[in-house]
Amino acid sequence: MLTFDEALSRLLDSAQAVSEVRALPTLAAAGRVLARAQAATVDAPPLDNAAMDGYALAVADVPQLASCLPVSQRIVAGSVGTRLQPGTAARIFTGAPIPAGADAVVMQELCQHGADSVMINHLPRVGDHIRRAGSDIAAGSEILPAGQRLRPQDTALAASVGIAELPVFRRLRVAVLFTGDELRMPGEALPPGAIYNSNRFLLSALLDRLGCVVRDLGQVADDLAATRRALREAAHDNDLVLSSGGVSVGEEDHVKAAVELEGQLEMWKIAIKPGKPLAFGQITSLGREVPLIGLPGNPVSCLVTFLTLVRPLLLKMQGVREVIPPAYLLRADFDWLRPDARREFLRARSNIDGGVDLFPNQASGVLSSAVWADGLVDKPAQQVIHRGDRVRFLPFSALLN
Ligand code: AMP
Ligand code: MG
Repeated sequence: MLTFDEALSRLLDSAQAVSEVRALPTLAAAGRVLARAQAATVDAPPLDNAAMDGYALAVADVPQLASCLPVSQRIVAGSVGTRLQPGTAARIFTGAPIPAGADAVVMQELCQHGADSVMINHLPRVGDHIRRAGSDIAAGSEILPAGQRLRPQDTALAASVGIAELPVFRRLRVAVLFTGDELRMPGEALPPGAIYNSNRFLLSALLDRLGCVVRDLGQVADDLAATRRALREAAHDNDLVLSSGGVSVGEEDHVKAAVELEGQLEMWKIAIKPGKPLAFGQITSLGREVPLIGLPGNPVSCLVTFLTLVRPLLLKMQGVREVIPPAYLLRADFDWLRPDARREFLRARSNIDGGVDLFPNQASGVLSSAVWADGLVDKPAQQVIHRGDRVRFLPFSALLN
C-alpha cells in the first residue's frame, strides 16, 4: 500500500505543466492561471489624494480650534488644483489630488462652511486623511506572482496599475468516461440492478469549476473494443483522461485490459479511506503520453480522491504555484474511537462555535454525507479522535474551486 503522501508526490512528479500562453484582456482573466509575474509600472494611487470629503490645508494655518480660512479653490476627483495660497483652504472631495502646499485634509463634518470661508473645529496633524502616492503599490514592485489563479481582487489590482492584458496559460482539456453496465442517466428507466450515474455529474462539475475544458464521453459499453476506442478518443487532443469505476480488485470490466493495450497502467492501493484503489497510467497509442487516472466508482470515494489527489495534479498541470489546499485546526465535537490503518477523510460540518461535527454514516456509497458536509476532517492513520481534540479540517470552500 502507498501512503497518501507517496501517492500524491508520485502524481505531482508526473505532472507536465501546460506551456502555451495567451494574452487575455484583464477583464476576462479572472479564474485563469497567470503565466508570468506582473509588476507595476506606475504608483497606485498615482498622486497624493484626499481620503475624505473636506478641506485641504496647511496644518500650520490652524494654530487653534475655530480658525477661519478663506476657501481659495475647489478640487473634485478627476481634476487637479493649483498650489494652495498660504493661509487658505481648498474645498476637496474624496479621490481628488492634494494641492501642493497642503499637508492635511480635515473632514467636512469637523468644519463649518461659510459663504467663501470655512471654520475648522479640529486640530489636524500632518498627513491626516491623505492617501499617499504609491501607498498601495509602488512603481516597479511585483504585484502578482506567476502561477497565481487569478481571483477578482487579483485582476482588479492589475487593472489599478493600468495592466490591460494578462498572460495566462491555456485551459486544460480533460476527458471523462464512466464504466459500469449498471449505470443509467436520470430520465431513463431504472431496471432492477441499475443505478443512476451520479459520478458523471460530480466529475464534470468538479472539472468545470477548476477551469478545465471537459470532454465528456459518457458511459462506455462493457466491451474491450469499445473501451479501447473510447480511450483513444479520450486521449486525442486532451491533457488528461479520467475514468470512473472498474478499479477495484476483481473487477470484471475492461478498463484495465484496455489501458494496458493502449499504454500502461499501475494499480495503486492507497492507504486512504474512502478511496483505496486508484489506477494511474498513460495512453501512448496516439504517439504521445496522455496520463490517465482511474477513480473508484463509489461516489464519495470518487469525490474524495478527486479533491485530495486529482485536484492538486490538475492545478500543477495548469501551472498553479500553490497546489495544496489550506487546512484549519478545529475542535472535534465528536468521538471517533475506531483507529484505522488508513488515513481517513471524514465528511464533516463546521459549526458556529468553532467546532466540527461528523455525519453519522461515513460509508463510501453515501453521497448525502457529502451534501450535508461543508468539508473533510483529515484524520491520520492509526489515530482516534476524542471530543475536544483539534483536528485538521479541509473546507469544501477551498477544495471546490
Ligand atoms: P466500481 O469501482 O466499478 O467497483 O464501483 C463501485 C461502486 O460504485 C459500485 O456500487 C458501483 O455501482 C458504483 N458506481 C460505479 N460507477 C458509478 C457512477 N458513475 N455513479 C454512481 N455510482 C457508481
Ligand atoms: Mg464497476
